[in-house]
Amino acid sequence: MNLEKIMSDLEKKHPGEVEYLQAVREVLESIEEVYNENPQFESAGILERIVEPDRVLTFKVPWVDDNNKVHVNIGYRVQFNGAIGPYKGGLRFHPSVNLSILKFLGFEQIFKNSLTTLPMGGGKGGSDFDPKGKSNGEIMRFCQAFMLELWKIIGPETDVPAGDIGVGGREIGYMYGMYKKLASEHTGVLTGKGRNWGGSILRPEATGFGAVYFAQEMLGTKGLDFKGKTVAISGFGNVAWGAVTKVNELGGKVVTISGPDGYIYDPDGISGRKIDYMLELRASNQDIVKPYSYEFPNAQFHQGKRPWEVKCDVAMPCATQNELGFEDAKKLVENGVMCVAEGANMPSTPEAINLFIEKKVMFAPGKAVNAGGVATSGLEMTQNTMKLSWQAEEVDIRLHQIMKDIHAQCEKHGKQADGYINYVKGANIAGFLKVASAMLDQGVV
Ligand code: NDP
Repeated sequence: MNLEKIMSDLEKKHPGEVEYLQAVREVLESIEEVYNENPQFESAGILERIVEPDRVLTFKVPWVDDNNKVHVNIGYRVQFNGAIGPYKGGLRFHPSVNLSILKFLGFEQIFKNSLTTLPMGGGKGGSDFDPKGKSNGEIMRFCQAFMLELWKIIGPETDVPAGDIGVGGREIGYMYGMYKKLASEHTGVLTGKGRNWGGSILRPEATGFGAVYFAQEMLGTKGLDFKGKTVAISGFGNVAWGAVTKVNELGGKVVTISGPDGYIYDPDGISGRKIDYMLELRASNQDIVKPYSYEFPNAQFHQGKRPWEVKCDVAMPCATQNELGFEDAKKLVENGVMCVAEGANMPSTPEAINLFIEKKVMFAPGKAVNAGGVATSGLEMTQNTMKLSWQAEEVDIRLHQIMKDIHAQCEKHGKQADGYINYVKGANIAGFLKVASAMLDQGVV
């Protein structure tokens, strides 16, 4: 593999798509060795084919606000790779959404879905629509307008979108309602559905729960667990709240959460009533971080800062991409962090990751750590196909087992001679090998 030539060709073809190029480089660097050991990959053009999406749909989403003003957003669906199953991946509604971000997320999703052991291909979609400050009616009209285009290319055996940043149960409900009307069918076309109409129990908290199960496995390799550990978490969205809840259950103490404007440090720990309080604020679309510091006076709000300056044993970035840079990593290492598990997608910059690996800090990437979300979506698809609804215990047992399996795959492919587990390498190689061999079996398509 001529990595630099591949990257420079890609940069020429897709100039300015920074996040996508960053994600591709990270994967190619990790798989270079196994790729070179298997000349059949080269002759089948696996690399050239895997880095380009199968197709990308972009569309206009016109909608009318409460004051009868017309707005136009852009909608996207990136169907990246369908070698091992229907395209699967979330929809993100956020003003920062562009093609580069969705291609990076769709590319990562290929390997993440492969790691789950379930038959799901990789995809991602969304819009530059900003749900913040919008009324319920505006959200509904936007979701309906979005689905008016998207429904043409999705289906329960074709492409099954889910939630992501800015898309939770409410948005999935509005989109599903419109899909059902257009397609005249009740199917598992979206995951993250409500419990009364085909949703899986535990899906909302599955990503955070799964991330903590994965971190537990990481600690377990050193004979450790969460009991008595201090944990720094960023964000307080779908992923972070599940993680905060599970860390508490396993005996750890979460001391931070954050938002785009700063972070909260709560030396007493974030648990119980404090979590309920934040969930109430979140449900009514309100800011969480600042009000928390007014409600619980021992907590301090650090304006414009990130939680990584706090002394902790475990760090779990659960907010967004590139939220943990080199300087943050340096502070974490200086403060003796032992384990960094990414709940978000690509929250650490390449420089931060390299430092963790160089200093032999246990570090695992989002595609392994947060795969519990899409895995539970896969379990929702299975329940929809079987027209059955499993109990929480059954879903939780399966989720826990899947996270253990993902950890075992990372360990198998990432363990170095000195015993250190390079989870980035392990996750990329394990995810890649399964998809690449399916692509080989299926010919050049
Ligand atoms: P949410 O929108 O529910 O939560 C994101 C959280 O991060 C919010 O609390 C948000 O605050 C905060 N936030 C946003 N930008 C920043 C920033 N620059 N600095 C600090 N905090 C910030 O999203 P999710 O929890 O669903 O997703 C989080 C990450 O996890 C994303 O990378 C996503 O792709 C990934 N992921 C999500 C899965 C899921 O099941 N939801 C599955 C797998 C991965 P505020 O609300 O105030 O903006």
